[in-house]
Amino acid sequence: MEPEKKPSNFIRDIIDQDIANGKNGGRVHTRFPPEPNGYLHIGHAKAICISFGIARDYKGLCNLRYDDTNPVKEDVEYVDSIREDVHWLGFDWGDREYYASDYFDQLHQHAMTLIKKGKAYVCDLSPEEQRLHRGTLTAPGKESPNRSRSVEENLDLFERMRKGEFAEGSRVLRAKIDMNSPNINMRDPTMYRIKKASHHRTGDKWCIYPMYDFTHCISDSIEGITHSLCTLEFENNRPLYDWFLIELGIHRPQQIEFARLNLTHTVLSKRVLLKLVQQKTVSGWDDPRMPTISGFRRRGYTPSSIRNFCDQIGVAKFNSTIDMVVLENSIREELNKTAPRMMAVLKPLKVVITNYPEGKAEDLEAVNNPEDLSAGSRKIPFSREIYIEEEDFREVPPPKYFRLAPGQEVRLRYAYFIKCEKVIKDHAGKIKEIHCTYDPATRGGNNPPDGRKVKGTIHWVSAEHAVSPEVRLYDHLFAAKDPNDFPEGKDIFVNLNPNSLEILKSAKLEPALAQVKAGERVQFERMGYFIADAKDSQPGKPVFNRIVTLRDTWGKIEKKS
Ligand code: ATP
Ligand code: MG
Repeated sequence: MEPEKKPSNFIRDIIDQDIANGKNGGRVHTRFPPEPNGYLHIGHAKAICISFGIARDYKGLCNLRYDDTNPVKEDVEYVDSIREDVHWLGFDWGDREYYASDYFDQLHQHAMTLIKKGKAYVCDLSPEEQRLHRGTLTAPGKESPNRSRSVEENLDLFERMRKGEFAEGSRVLRAKIDMNSPNINMRDPTMYRIKKASHHRTGDKWCIYPMYDFTHCISDSIEGITHSLCTLEFENNRPLYDWFLIELGIHRPQQIEFARLNLTHTVLSKRVLLKLVQQKTVSGWDDPRMPTISGFRRRGYTPSSIRNFCDQIGVAKFNSTIDMVVLENSIREELNKTAPRMMAVLKPLKVVITNYPEGKAEDLEAVNNPEDLSAGSRKIPFSREIYIEEEDFREVPPPKYFRLAPGQEVRLRYAYFIKCEKVIKDHAGKIKEIHCTYDPATRGGNNPPDGRKVKGTIHWVSAEHAVSPEVRLYDHLFAAKDPNDFPEGKDIFVNLNPNSLEILKSAKLEPALAQVKAGERVQFERMGYFIADAKDSQPGKPVFNRIVTLRDTWGKIEKKS
Protein backbone atom coordinates (compact mmCIF):
# COMPACT_ATOMS: atom_id res chain seq x y z
CA MET A 1 0.00 0.00 0.00
CA GLU A 2 1.15 3.53 -0.78
CA PRO A 3 2.36 5.38 2.30
CA GLU A 4 -0.16 8.12 2.93
CA LYS A 5 0.57 11.35 4.78
CA LYS A 6 0.32 11.14 8.54
CA PRO A 7 -2.56 13.15 9.90
CA SER A 8 -2.23 14.64 13.35
CA ASN A 9 -5.08 14.48 15.83
CA PHE A 10 -5.78 14.23 19.54
CA ILE A 11 -5.42 10.44 19.59
CA ARG A 12 -2.03 10.60 17.93
CA ASP A 13 -1.01 13.34 20.38
CA ILE A 14 -1.80 10.99 23.30
CA ILE A 15 0.13 8.16 21.66
CA ASP A 16 3.12 10.42 20.98
CA GLN A 17 3.18 11.33 24.64
CA ASP A 18 2.82 7.70 25.76
CA ILE A 19 5.78 6.78 23.59
CA ALA A 20 7.81 9.69 24.95
CA ASN A 21 7.00 8.49 28.50
CA GLY A 22 7.97 4.92 27.68
CA LYS A 23 4.47 3.67 28.48
CA ASN A 24 3.88 0.05 27.34
CA GLY A 25 7.59 -0.06 26.49
CA GLY A 26 6.84 2.23 23.54
CA ARG A 27 4.54 -0.38 21.98
CA VAL A 28 1.46 0.60 19.96
CA HIS A 29 -1.11 -2.14 19.57
CA THR A 30 -4.68 -1.40 18.50
CA ARG A 31 -7.60 -3.51 17.31
CA PHE A 32 -10.74 -3.28 15.24
CA PRO A 33 -13.56 -5.14 17.03
CA PRO A 34 -16.68 -5.59 14.88
CA GLU A 35 -19.62 -7.66 15.97
CA PRO A 36 -20.39 -10.06 13.08
CA ASN A 37 -24.07 -9.16 13.03
CA GLY A 38 -24.11 -7.24 9.76
CA TYR A 39 -21.91 -5.92 6.96
CA LEU A 40 -19.44 -3.13 7.64
CA HIS A 41 -20.47 0.41 6.70
CA ILE A 42 -18.66 3.65 6.00
CA GLY A 43 -18.66 4.48 9.74
CA HIS A 44 -16.70 1.29 10.33
CA ALA A 45 -14.34 2.39 7.55
CA LYS A 46 -13.55 5.43 9.67
CA ALA A 47 -12.84 3.25 12.72
CA ILE A 48 -10.72 0.89 10.56
CA CYS A 49 -8.68 3.74 9.09
CA ILE A 50 -8.07 5.13 12.57
CA SER A 51 -6.97 1.92 14.30
CA PHE A 52 -5.14 0.31 11.37
CA GLY A 53 -3.76 3.67 10.25
CA ILE A 54 -2.25 4.33 13.66
CA ALA A 55 -0.72 0.86 13.83
CA ARG A 56 0.78 1.39 10.35
CA ASP A 57 2.20 4.84 11.07
CA TYR A 58 3.66 3.89 14.48
CA LYS A 59 5.00 0.56 13.21
CA GLY A 60 2.72 -1.17 15.67
CA LEU A 61 0.10 -3.87 15.28
CA CYS A 62 -3.64 -3.89 14.78
CA ASN A 63 -5.73 -7.00 15.45
CA LEU A 64 -8.97 -7.91 13.80
CA ARG A 65 -11.23 -9.22 16.51
CA TYR A 66 -14.75 -10.41 16.09
CA ASP A 67 -16.75 -9.50 19.18
CA ASP A 68 -19.04 -12.47 18.82
CA THR A 69 -20.88 -12.70 22.11
CA ASN A 70 -24.44 -12.83 20.79
CA PRO A 71 -25.00 -16.22 19.10
CA VAL A 72 -28.50 -15.33 17.96
CA LYS A 73 -27.60 -12.40 15.71
CA GLU A 74 -24.26 -13.51 14.35
CA ASP A 75 -23.43 -15.36 11.19
CA VAL A 76 -20.41 -16.63 9.21
CA GLU A 77 -21.62 -14.69 6.17
CA TYR A 78 -20.91 -11.53 8.17
CA VAL A 79 -17.54 -12.83 9.38
CA ASP A 80 -16.45 -13.46 5.78
CA SER A 81 -17.71 -10.12 4.51
CA ILE A 82 -15.85 -8.25 7.26
CA ARG A 83 -12.61 -9.98 6.38
CA GLU A 84 -13.06 -9.12 2.70
CA ASP A 85 -13.98 -5.50 3.38
CA VAL A 86 -11.04 -4.75 5.69
CA HIS A 87 -8.63 -6.29 3.17
CA TRP A 88 -10.23 -4.38 0.33
CA LEU A 89 -9.72 -1.13 2.22
CA GLY A 90 -6.03 -1.97 2.13
CA PHE A 91 -5.36 -3.16 5.68
CA ASP A 92 -3.93 -6.41 7.00
CA TRP A 93 -3.90 -8.03 10.42
CA GLY A 94 -1.35 -10.73 9.64
CA ASP A 95 -2.13 -13.87 11.64
CA ARG A 96 -3.91 -11.86 14.34
CA GLU A 97 -7.51 -12.70 13.52
CA TYR A 98 -9.18 -13.26 16.86
CA TYR A 99 -12.62 -14.06 18.19
CA ALA A 100 -14.01 -13.11 21.56
CA SER A 101 -15.55 -16.58 21.57
CA ASP A 102 -12.02 -18.03 21.66
CA TYR A 103 -11.78 -16.46 25.11
CA PHE A 104 -14.98 -17.97 26.52
CA ASP A 105 -13.00 -20.33 28.80
CA GLN A 106 -10.82 -17.51 30.12
CA LEU A 107 -13.82 -15.25 30.56
CA HIS A 108 -15.54 -17.97 32.52
CA GLN A 109 -12.45 -18.28 34.75
CA HIS A 110 -12.41 -14.53 35.30
CA ALA A 111 -16.08 -14.59 36.23
CA MET A 112 -15.35 -17.28 38.82
CA THR A 113 -12.49 -15.17 40.17
CA LEU A 114 -14.87 -12.26 40.71
CA ILE A 115 -17.42 -14.53 42.41
CA LYS A 116 -14.71 -15.85 44.72
CA LYS A 117 -13.69 -12.28 45.55
CA GLY A 118 -17.29 -11.52 46.51
CA LYS A 119 -17.50 -9.15 43.50
CA ALA A 120 -20.14 -11.00 41.48
CA TYR A 121 -23.39 -12.75 42.32
CA VAL A 122 -26.18 -14.75 40.74
CA CYS A 123 -29.39 -12.74 40.60
CA ASP A 124 -32.85 -14.30 40.25
CA LEU A 125 -34.77 -11.15 39.35
CA SER A 126 -36.73 -11.34 36.11
CA PRO A 127 -35.53 -9.06 33.31
CA GLU A 128 -38.50 -6.78 34.02
CA GLU A 129 -37.74 -6.61 37.77
CA GLN A 130 -34.10 -5.93 37.01
CA ARG A 131 -35.09 -3.07 34.79
CA LEU A 132 -37.25 -1.56 37.54
CA HIS A 133 -34.43 -1.99 40.08
CA ARG A 134 -31.96 -0.21 37.83
CA GLY A 135 -33.28 3.27 38.61
CA THR A 136 -32.95 6.22 36.25
CA LEU A 137 -30.51 9.00 35.51
CA THR A 138 -31.99 10.95 38.44
CA ALA A 139 -33.10 8.16 40.79
CA PRO A 140 -30.69 5.64 42.34
CA GLY A 141 -31.17 1.93 41.75
CA LYS A 142 -32.41 -0.68 44.22
CA GLU A 143 -30.31 -3.61 45.40
CA SER A 144 -31.26 -7.13 44.37
CA PRO A 145 -32.45 -9.37 47.24
CA ASN A 146 -29.80 -11.88 46.03
CA ARG A 147 -26.93 -9.44 46.39
CA SER A 148 -25.74 -10.91 49.71
CA ARG A 149 -25.62 -14.53 48.56
CA SER A 150 -22.61 -16.43 49.87
CA VAL A 151 -19.65 -17.15 47.61
CA GLU A 152 -20.41 -20.88 47.84
CA GLU A 153 -24.01 -20.45 46.78
CA ASN A 154 -22.99 -18.18 43.89
CA LEU A 155 -20.37 -20.66 42.68
CA ASP A 156 -22.90 -23.47 42.86
CA LEU A 157 -25.65 -21.53 41.03
CA PHE A 158 -23.28 -20.21 38.36
CA GLU A 159 -22.03 -23.75 37.71
CA ARG A 160 -25.61 -24.97 37.40
CA MET A 161 -26.37 -22.09 35.01
CA ARG A 162 -23.46 -23.31 32.90
CA LYS A 163 -24.75 -26.86 32.95
CA GLY A 164 -28.10 -25.73 31.59
CA GLU A 165 -30.21 -26.44 34.66
CA PHE A 166 -32.10 -23.15 34.51
CA ALA A 167 -34.40 -21.59 31.96
CA GLU A 168 -33.38 -18.63 29.80
CA GLY A 169 -34.08 -15.36 31.56
CA SER A 170 -34.43 -16.96 35.00
CA ARG A 171 -31.00 -16.00 36.36
CA VAL A 172 -27.99 -13.87 35.46
CA LEU A 173 -24.54 -13.31 36.90
CA ARG A 174 -24.03 -9.68 37.93
CA ALA A 175 -21.05 -7.64 39.04
CA LYS A 176 -21.41 -6.30 42.58
CA ILE A 177 -20.49 -2.64 42.19
CA ASP A 178 -22.81 0.15 43.30
CA MET A 179 -26.56 0.52 42.80
CA ASN A 180 -26.27 4.19 43.79
CA SER A 181 -23.67 5.11 41.20
CA PRO A 182 -24.62 8.12 39.07
CA ASN A 183 -23.29 6.05 36.15
CA ILE A 184 -25.99 3.50 35.35
CA ASN A 185 -23.38 1.19 33.79
CA MET A 186 -21.96 0.70 37.31
CA ARG A 187 -25.25 -0.42 38.86
CA ASP A 188 -24.45 -4.13 39.15
CA PRO A 189 -24.35 -4.80 35.39
CA THR A 190 -25.01 -8.25 34.01
CA MET A 191 -21.91 -10.28 33.19
CA TYR A 192 -23.49 -13.54 31.97
CA ARG A 193 -26.90 -14.55 30.72
CA ILE A 194 -28.46 -17.89 29.86
CA LYS A 195 -28.97 -18.40 26.13
CA LYS A 196 -29.74 -21.86 24.87
CA ALA A 197 -28.50 -21.13 21.40
CA SER A 198 -25.80 -22.57 19.15
CA HIS A 199 -22.87 -20.29 18.50
CA HIS A 200 -21.35 -20.07 15.01
CA ARG A 201 -17.96 -21.09 16.43
CA THR A 202 -18.43 -22.79 19.79
CA GLY A 203 -21.51 -24.77 18.76
CA ASP A 204 -23.44 -26.09 21.75
CA LYS A 205 -20.58 -25.97 24.21
CA TRP A 206 -22.10 -23.08 26.11
CA CYS A 207 -25.58 -22.14 27.20
CA ILE A 208 -24.38 -19.13 29.15
CA TYR A 209 -22.83 -16.25 27.20
CA PRO A 210 -20.78 -13.31 28.52
CA MET A 211 -22.16 -9.82 27.99
CA TYR A 212 -20.46 -7.45 25.58
CA ASP A 213 -19.10 -5.12 28.29
CA PHE A 214 -17.51 -7.91 30.30
CA THR A 215 -16.09 -9.54 27.17
CA HIS A 216 -14.81 -6.50 25.35
CA CYS A 217 -12.44 -5.11 27.96
CA ILE A 218 -11.06 -8.53 28.90
CA SER A 219 -10.49 -9.43 25.23
CA ASP A 220 -8.52 -6.19 24.81
CA SER A 221 -6.53 -7.07 27.91
CA ILE A 222 -5.79 -10.65 26.80
CA GLU A 223 -4.47 -9.37 23.46
CA GLY A 224 -2.20 -6.82 25.13
CA ILE A 225 -3.89 -3.92 23.38
CA THR A 226 -2.24 -0.63 24.37
CA HIS A 227 -4.74 1.85 22.92
CA SER A 228 -8.34 0.77 22.64
CA LEU A 229 -9.94 3.24 20.26
CA CYS A 230 -13.72 3.39 20.13
CA THR A 231 -16.64 5.70 19.58
CA LEU A 232 -17.98 8.25 22.08
CA GLU A 233 -20.94 6.21 23.25
CA PHE A 234 -18.49 4.01 25.16
CA GLU A 235 -17.23 6.87 27.32
CA ASN A 236 -19.62 5.90 30.13
CA ASN A 237 -18.57 2.26 29.86
CA ARG A 238 -14.94 3.08 30.50
CA PRO A 239 -15.30 3.15 34.35
CA LEU A 240 -16.88 -0.31 34.17
CA TYR A 241 -14.05 -1.65 31.97
CA ASP A 242 -11.51 -0.21 34.39
CA TRP A 243 -13.36 -1.77 37.33
CA PHE A 244 -13.30 -5.28 35.79
CA LEU A 245 -9.63 -5.09 34.86
CA ILE A 246 -8.51 -3.60 38.17
CA GLU A 247 -10.51 -6.15 40.20
CA LEU A 248 -9.01 -8.95 38.09
CA GLY A 249 -5.52 -7.41 38.29
CA ILE A 250 -4.85 -7.82 34.57
CA HIS A 251 -3.36 -5.57 31.85
CA ARG A 252 -5.38 -2.43 31.35
CA PRO A 253 -5.40 -0.84 27.86
CA GLN A 254 -6.08 2.85 27.55
CA GLN A 255 -9.45 3.53 26.01
CA ILE A 256 -9.76 6.67 23.89
CA GLU A 257 -13.11 7.70 22.43
CA PHE A 258 -13.73 9.59 19.18
CA ALA A 259 -16.87 10.81 17.43
CA ARG A 260 -18.88 8.47 15.21
CA LEU A 261 -19.21 9.27 11.56
CA ASN A 262 -22.64 10.47 10.49
CA LEU A 263 -23.38 11.27 6.84
CA THR A 264 -26.25 13.20 5.27
CA HIS A 265 -28.88 11.21 3.34
CA THR A 266 -27.56 8.09 5.06
CA VAL A 267 -28.29 5.81 7.98
CA LEU A 268 -25.41 4.04 9.70
CA SER A 269 -27.33 1.70 11.93
CA LYS A 270 -26.92 -2.01 11.31
CA ARG A 271 -30.46 -2.55 12.56
CA VAL A 272 -31.90 -0.25 9.87
CA LEU A 273 -29.58 -1.56 7.15
CA LEU A 274 -30.61 -5.13 7.97
CA LYS A 275 -34.25 -4.10 7.71
CA LEU A 276 -33.64 -2.57 4.25
CA VAL A 277 -32.15 -5.88 3.13
CA GLN A 278 -34.88 -8.00 4.73
CA GLN A 279 -37.76 -5.98 3.36
CA LYS A 280 -36.04 -5.95 -0.07
CA THR A 281 -35.93 -2.19 -0.38
CA VAL A 282 -32.46 -2.87 -1.75
CA SER A 283 -31.09 -5.90 -3.59
CA GLY A 284 -28.75 -6.93 -0.75
CA TRP A 285 -26.05 -5.66 1.60
CA ASP A 286 -23.96 -4.79 -1.46
CA ASP A 287 -26.67 -2.86 -3.28
CA PRO A 288 -24.84 0.15 -4.77
CA ARG A 289 -27.11 2.48 -2.78
CA MET A 290 -26.15 0.95 0.57
CA PRO A 291 -23.65 2.84 2.77
CA THR A 292 -21.89 -0.45 3.37
CA ILE A 293 -18.29 -0.93 2.28
CA SER A 294 -19.48 -3.66 -0.10
CA GLY A 295 -22.15 -1.28 -1.41
CA PHE A 296 -19.60 1.46 -2.09
CA ARG A 297 -17.31 -1.09 -3.72
CA ARG A 298 -20.02 -2.23 -6.10
CA ARG A 299 -21.07 1.36 -6.69
CA GLY A 300 -17.55 1.98 -7.96
CA TYR A 301 -15.75 3.72 -5.10
CA THR A 302 -12.05 2.88 -4.78
CA PRO A 303 -10.36 1.96 -1.49
CA SER A 304 -8.13 5.03 -1.77
CA SER A 305 -11.10 7.36 -2.22
CA ILE A 306 -12.58 6.05 1.03
CA ARG A 307 -9.27 6.22 2.89
CA ASN A 308 -8.69 9.77 1.66
CA PHE A 309 -12.18 10.70 2.80
CA CYS A 310 -11.48 9.29 6.27
CA ASP A 311 -8.22 11.25 6.50
CA GLN A 312 -9.95 14.36 5.34
CA ILE A 313 -12.78 14.29 7.90
CA GLY A 314 -10.27 13.76 10.69
CA VAL A 315 -10.86 12.65 14.24
CA ALA A 316 -12.71 14.73 16.81
CA LYS A 317 -14.28 14.49 20.24
CA PHE A 318 -17.68 15.91 19.28
CA ASN A 319 -20.37 14.42 17.08
CA SER A 320 -21.19 16.04 13.77
CA THR A 321 -22.66 15.13 10.42
CA ILE A 322 -20.53 15.15 7.30
CA ASP A 323 -22.11 16.13 4.01
CA MET A 324 -22.28 13.25 1.53
CA VAL A 325 -20.73 15.64 -1.01
CA VAL A 326 -17.39 15.34 0.79
CA LEU A 327 -17.32 11.61 0.10
CA GLU A 328 -18.53 12.09 -3.47
CA ASN A 329 -15.86 14.70 -4.11
CA SER A 330 -13.22 12.27 -2.94
CA ILE A 331 -14.09 9.77 -5.68
CA ARG A 332 -14.65 12.56 -8.25
CA GLU A 333 -11.21 13.95 -7.60
CA GLU A 334 -9.60 10.55 -8.08
CA LEU A 335 -11.56 9.49 -11.15
CA ASN A 336 -11.04 12.86 -12.78
CA LYS A 337 -7.38 11.89 -13.03
CA THR A 338 -7.65 8.18 -13.65
CA ALA A 339 -10.85 7.33 -15.52
CA PRO A 340 -10.76 7.31 -19.35
CA ARG A 341 -13.42 9.50 -20.94
CA MET A 342 -15.80 7.90 -23.36
CA MET A 343 -18.99 8.88 -25.06
CA ALA A 344 -22.31 7.44 -24.01
CA VAL A 345 -25.79 8.72 -24.76
CA LEU A 346 -28.06 7.84 -21.87
CA LYS A 347 -31.42 9.05 -23.22
CA PRO A 348 -30.99 8.97 -27.00
CA LEU A 349 -32.50 11.12 -29.72
CA LYS A 350 -31.73 10.14 -33.31
CA VAL A 351 -30.06 12.64 -35.63
CA VAL A 352 -29.80 12.08 -39.40
CA ILE A 353 -27.10 14.05 -41.15
CA THR A 354 -28.73 14.48 -44.53
CA ASN A 355 -25.68 15.69 -46.48
CA TYR A 356 -23.41 12.90 -45.20
CA PRO A 357 -23.10 10.06 -47.73
CA GLU A 358 -25.20 6.99 -47.03
CA GLY A 359 -23.17 3.91 -46.15
CA LYS A 360 -20.05 5.91 -45.34
CA ALA A 361 -18.26 5.67 -42.00
CA GLU A 362 -15.02 7.27 -40.90
CA ASP A 363 -12.80 7.01 -37.84
CA LEU A 364 -12.17 10.14 -35.83
CA GLU A 365 -9.52 10.66 -33.21
CA ALA A 366 -10.60 11.12 -29.56
CA VAL A 367 -8.41 11.88 -26.54
CA ASN A 368 -8.79 9.35 -23.70
CA ASN A 369 -8.21 11.73 -20.83
CA PRO A 370 -7.33 15.41 -21.22
CA GLU A 371 -6.14 15.33 -17.55
CA ASP A 372 -3.69 12.54 -18.36
CA LEU A 373 -2.27 12.72 -21.89
CA SER A 374 -0.28 9.54 -21.29
CA ALA A 375 -3.61 7.74 -21.53
CA GLY A 376 -3.38 8.30 -25.29
CA SER A 377 -6.19 8.45 -27.80
CA ARG A 378 -8.57 6.16 -29.67
CA LYS A 379 -10.64 6.10 -32.86
CA ILE A 380 -14.38 6.49 -32.83
CA PRO A 381 -16.61 5.81 -35.84
CA PHE A 382 -18.81 8.53 -37.32
CA SER A 383 -21.65 7.92 -39.76
CA ARG A 384 -24.83 9.42 -41.22
CA GLU A 385 -27.06 8.51 -38.29
CA ILE A 386 -26.05 9.29 -34.76
CA TYR A 387 -27.61 9.58 -31.33
CA ILE A 388 -27.43 12.63 -29.15
CA GLU A 389 -28.78 13.21 -25.65
CA GLU A 390 -32.49 14.09 -25.68
CA GLU A 391 -31.82 17.07 -23.43
CA ASP A 392 -29.26 18.43 -25.92
CA PHE A 393 -32.07 19.45 -28.28
CA ARG A 394 -34.85 21.97 -27.65
CA GLU A 395 -37.47 22.79 -30.19
CA VAL A 396 -38.03 26.08 -28.44
CA PRO A 397 -34.71 26.89 -26.82
CA PRO A 398 -34.69 28.97 -23.64
CA PRO A 399 -32.37 32.01 -23.57
CA LYS A 400 -28.66 31.15 -23.60
CA TYR A 401 -29.30 27.61 -24.76
CA PHE A 402 -26.22 26.88 -26.84
CA ARG A 403 -26.96 23.29 -27.75
CA LEU A 404 -29.03 22.07 -30.70
CA ALA A 405 -32.24 23.89 -31.74
CA PRO A 406 -33.93 24.59 -35.08
CA GLY A 407 -31.55 26.64 -37.21
CA GLN A 408 -28.88 26.48 -34.51
CA GLU A 409 -25.40 25.06 -34.93
CA VAL A 410 -23.46 22.97 -32.39
CA ARG A 411 -20.15 21.12 -32.22
CA LEU A 412 -20.15 17.35 -32.02
CA ARG A 413 -17.22 16.46 -29.78
CA TYR A 414 -14.22 15.28 -31.89
CA ALA A 415 -16.44 15.25 -35.05
CA TYR A 416 -18.11 18.13 -36.92
CA PHE A 417 -20.35 21.14 -36.58
CA ILE A 418 -23.96 20.22 -37.33
CA LYS A 419 -26.92 22.49 -37.89
CA CYS A 420 -30.55 21.53 -37.23
CA GLU A 421 -32.63 21.83 -40.38
CA LYS A 422 -35.80 19.92 -39.57
CA VAL A 423 -37.69 18.25 -36.74
CA ILE A 424 -39.55 15.02 -37.59
CA LYS A 425 -42.50 14.09 -35.39
CA ASP A 426 -44.79 11.09 -35.11
CA HIS A 427 -48.63 11.18 -35.23
CA ALA A 428 -48.82 12.06 -31.55
CA GLY A 429 -46.56 15.05 -32.08
CA LYS A 430 -43.60 13.47 -30.28
CA ILE A 431 -40.19 14.20 -31.76
CA LYS A 432 -38.92 11.14 -33.65
CA GLU A 433 -35.70 12.41 -35.10
CA ILE A 434 -33.82 15.52 -36.09
CA HIS A 435 -32.45 16.24 -39.53
CA CYS A 436 -29.21 18.15 -39.67
CA THR A 437 -26.50 19.10 -42.12
CA TYR A 438 -22.80 18.97 -41.28
CA ASP A 439 -19.90 21.13 -42.39
CA PRO A 440 -17.02 18.97 -43.75
CA ALA A 441 -14.62 21.87 -43.06
CA THR A 442 -14.99 21.30 -39.31
CA ARG A 443 -13.58 17.76 -39.20
CA GLY A 444 -12.27 16.83 -35.74
CA GLY A 445 -14.59 19.42 -34.25
CA ASN A 446 -12.30 22.24 -35.31
CA ASN A 447 -13.44 25.76 -36.20
CA PRO A 448 -13.90 26.23 -39.98
CA PRO A 449 -11.56 28.50 -42.04
CA ASP A 450 -14.31 31.14 -42.27
CA GLY A 451 -13.80 31.82 -38.55
CA ARG A 452 -17.36 30.80 -37.63
CA LYS A 453 -17.69 29.72 -33.98
CA VAL A 454 -20.24 27.84 -31.88
CA LYS A 455 -20.73 27.99 -28.15
CA GLY A 456 -22.01 24.49 -27.47
CA THR A 457 -20.28 21.11 -27.67
CA ILE A 458 -22.28 17.95 -27.24
CA HIS A 459 -21.45 14.24 -27.21
CA TRP A 460 -22.83 11.64 -29.62
CA VAL A 461 -22.62 8.00 -30.65
CA SER A 462 -22.80 6.57 -34.18
CA ALA A 463 -26.09 4.66 -34.41
CA GLU A 464 -24.85 1.85 -36.58
CA HIS A 465 -21.81 1.18 -34.35
CA ALA A 466 -23.44 1.74 -30.97
CA VAL A 467 -23.41 -0.76 -28.13
CA SER A 468 -26.59 -1.14 -26.08
CA PRO A 469 -25.94 -1.47 -22.35
CA GLU A 470 -28.13 -1.40 -19.29
CA VAL A 471 -27.38 1.71 -17.27
CA ARG A 472 -28.34 2.07 -13.62
CA LEU A 473 -28.53 5.58 -12.29
CA TYR A 474 -28.14 5.54 -8.52
CA ASP A 475 -28.98 8.36 -6.22
CA HIS A 476 -29.26 8.90 -2.45
CA LEU A 477 -31.12 6.12 -0.72
CA PHE A 478 -32.76 8.67 1.56
CA ALA A 479 -34.15 11.88 0.13
CA ALA A 480 -34.11 13.60 3.52
CA LYS A 481 -30.82 15.13 4.53
CA ASP A 482 -31.39 13.75 8.01
CA PRO A 483 -33.32 10.48 7.61
CA ASN A 484 -33.88 10.32 11.36
CA ASP A 485 -36.04 13.42 11.14
CA PHE A 486 -39.49 11.92 10.48
CA PRO A 487 -43.00 12.86 11.63
CA GLU A 488 -44.48 11.31 14.75
CA GLY A 489 -46.21 8.02 14.10
CA LYS A 490 -44.04 7.36 11.03
CA ASP A 491 -40.71 5.61 10.72
CA ILE A 492 -37.38 6.28 9.08
CA PHE A 493 -38.50 4.58 5.87
CA VAL A 494 -40.83 7.46 4.96
CA ASN A 495 -37.63 9.32 4.16
CA LEU A 496 -36.51 6.87 1.49
CA ASN A 497 -35.87 8.38 -1.92
CA PRO A 498 -38.40 6.86 -4.36
CA ASN A 499 -36.04 7.75 -7.23
CA SER A 500 -32.87 6.23 -5.82
CA LEU A 501 -32.60 3.89 -8.82
CA GLU A 502 -33.48 4.61 -12.44
CA ILE A 503 -32.77 1.85 -14.97
CA LEU A 504 -32.08 2.93 -18.54
CA LYS A 505 -32.52 0.30 -21.23
CA SER A 506 -32.09 2.39 -24.37
CA ALA A 507 -28.73 4.02 -23.71
CA LYS A 508 -26.08 3.89 -26.48
CA LEU A 509 -22.32 3.59 -26.04
CA GLU A 510 -19.39 4.11 -28.35
CA PRO A 511 -18.12 0.72 -29.59
CA ALA A 512 -14.91 0.75 -27.52
CA LEU A 513 -17.10 0.07 -24.50
CA ALA A 514 -18.48 -3.24 -25.80
CA GLN A 515 -15.73 -5.36 -24.30
CA VAL A 516 -15.43 -3.46 -21.02
CA LYS A 517 -14.44 -5.72 -18.12
CA ALA A 518 -16.54 -5.93 -14.97
CA GLY A 519 -15.13 -3.49 -12.44
CA GLU A 520 -13.70 -1.02 -15.00
CA ARG A 521 -14.42 2.64 -14.37
CA VAL A 522 -14.99 5.31 -17.02
CA GLN A 523 -16.24 8.81 -17.33
CA PHE A 524 -19.14 9.16 -19.72
CA GLU A 525 -18.41 12.63 -21.01
CA ARG A 526 -20.74 15.21 -19.45
CA MET A 527 -22.81 12.46 -17.78
CA GLY A 528 -20.81 11.21 -14.81
CA TYR A 529 -18.52 8.44 -13.65
CA PHE A 530 -19.61 4.86 -14.21
CA ILE A 531 -18.41 1.35 -13.43
CA ALA A 532 -19.18 -1.90 -15.25
CA ASP A 533 -21.13 -3.77 -12.60
CA ALA A 534 -19.07 -6.46 -10.87
CA LYS A 535 -21.93 -8.94 -10.76
CA ASP A 536 -24.05 -8.34 -13.84
CA SER A 537 -21.81 -6.88 -16.54
CA GLN A 538 -20.56 -9.21 -19.29
CA PRO A 539 -18.40 -8.64 -22.36
CA GLY A 540 -20.76 -7.69 -25.17
CA LYS A 541 -23.59 -7.07 -22.68
CA PRO A 542 -22.34 -4.33 -20.42
CA VAL A 543 -24.19 -3.14 -17.32
CA PHE A 544 -23.06 0.19 -15.94
CA ASN A 545 -23.63 1.70 -12.51
CA ARG A 546 -23.41 5.43 -12.09
CA ILE A 547 -20.84 6.04 -9.36
CA VAL A 548 -21.40 9.77 -9.12
CA THR A 549 -22.45 12.67 -11.29
CA LEU A 550 -19.75 15.03 -12.54
CA ARG A 551 -20.83 17.78 -10.18
CA ASP A 552 -22.89 17.92 -7.04
CA THR A 553 -26.48 18.30 -8.25
CA TRP A 554 -28.10 18.06 -4.82
CA GLY A 555 -26.28 21.07 -3.45
CA LYS A 556 -28.25 23.30 -5.81
CA ILE A 557 -31.56 21.73 -4.85
CA GLU A 558 -30.85 22.05 -1.16
CA LYS A 559 -29.79 25.68 -1.47
CA LYS A 560 -33.06 26.48 -3.20
CA SER A 561 -35.29 24.76 -0.62
P1 ATP B 1 -23.98 -2.44 16.95
O1 ATP B 1 -23.08 -2.50 18.15
O2 ATP B 1 -25.25 -1.72 17.14
O3 ATP B 1 -24.13 -3.75 16.27
P2 ATP B 1 -21.87 -0.89 15.78
O4 ATP B 1 -22.04 0.01 14.63
O5 ATP B 1 -21.36 -0.36 17.07
O6 ATP B 1 -23.27 -1.55 15.89
P3 ATP B 1 -19.72 -2.80 15.87
O7 ATP B 1 -19.55 -3.99 15.04
O8 ATP B 1 -19.82 -2.99 17.33
O9 ATP B 1 -21.01 -2.10 15.32
O10 ATP B 1 -18.62 -1.73 15.51
C1 ATP B 1 -17.24 -2.03 15.44
C2 ATP B 1 -16.42 -0.80 15.67
O11 ATP B 1 -16.75 0.21 14.72
C3 ATP B 1 -16.69 -0.21 17.05
O12 ATP B 1 -15.44 0.07 17.65
C4 ATP B 1 -17.45 1.04 16.77
O13 ATP B 1 -17.16 2.03 17.71
C5 ATP B 1 -17.00 1.43 15.36
N1 ATP B 1 -18.08 2.16 14.67
C6 ATP B 1 -19.34 1.75 14.48
N2 ATP B 1 -20.07 2.70 13.85
C7 ATP B 1 -19.25 3.76 13.65
C8 ATP B 1 -19.40 5.05 13.06
N3 ATP B 1 -20.56 5.47 12.55
N4 ATP B 1 -18.33 5.87 13.02
C9 ATP B 1 -17.15 5.46 13.52
N5 ATP B 1 -16.94 4.27 14.09
C10 ATP B 1 -17.96 3.41 14.17
MG1 MG C 1 -21.10 -1.97 18.84
